[in-house]
Amino acid sequence: MTKKIKNRNKKKLYPGIFILTLYLFYLANFLKNTSILLMPKEYKEIKNIVNKLASKNKLGDKEITFSITNGDYMSWNMKDLELCKAKRCWYYNNLSPYKKYKNRNGININELSNQAYLYGGIEAYTWNNIVWISKSTFRSLGENNGFLGCIIGHELSHILFDDHISDSLILSSKLRDLVLLENKLSDEKDLEDKDKKFIEMEISRSSESKADNGAAKLLINAGFPKDTCTKFLTYMTDLEKLDTETDPNSTHPGYLERYSSLNKYISLYKIKRNLKYNENNKWKWRFNRDLNILTFIPIDK
Ligand SMILES: [Zn+2]
Repeated sequence: MTKKIKNRNKKKLYPGIFILTLYLFYLANFLKNTSILLMPKEYKEIKNIVNKLASKNKLGDKEITFSITNGDYMSWNMKDLELCKAKRCWYYNNLSPYKKYKNRNGININELSNQAYLYGGIEAYTWNNIVWISKSTFRSLGENNGFLGCIIGHELSHILFDDHISDSLILSSKLRDLVLLENKLSDEKDLEDKDKKFIEMEISRSSESKADNGAAKLLINAGFPKDTCTKFLTYMTDLEKLDTETDPNSTHPGYLERYSSLNKYISLYKIKRNLKYNENNKWKWRFNRDLNILTFIPIDK
């Protein structure tokens, strides 16, 4: 009789244990997907440096998303192995290095991702308020979080300046001037694509120098040594074997021009007294492992 009662009680317990197990499973999964504490260390490095910058600078009122990807080395490898066609290789560039993938045509994608981490270099760009940084960037910079600050500060400056409209206006104006000039000099009315390309590159180089200055400003305000970003430029030029002279076809100035422009800005820059106002900035972070993004969210006061 007692045995029967015990068995009946046990049966009643089973659904409860099942629901609790299911709940714990979902909770663990939810935490793994969203917990800031469980993020990969590279995301923690981004969070730490942006916290420092945001504590002394206003980073605008829009959300800013960061994503760590495999980077260019991955897409070059995929192309060399004929696993993708030129324009479609971008997909592999943007794959999350923190996920596992199935083999493709017998090639281990996870191994290629490891190689991209090992052999890739410093790489970051901004698009639609998203800052993309290759995982190899973190390995390339080692422990120098000031250098990471210069990269992030540069990309944040592109977002904060939001120079698309002003750049587009400058381009139109320069193109108009060129048409007028060419009309005076010759009968030719059509502008060659080459001329337009040169002007676009010139404008792009000016934006890049502005973003370098913006990065230095963010870092100096946040208490980093004044020469952190000029040192970073030298470090990056050595590591990536970048051009020292400016190429008129390039989106970025050569090292000498870039360094001298940044150095001049830094020597003239003075920290403004109203920085205390920025010390009241408030923000929070949201991580999403599935989407492979970390988002900086300013909070209105
Ligand atoms: Zn840039």
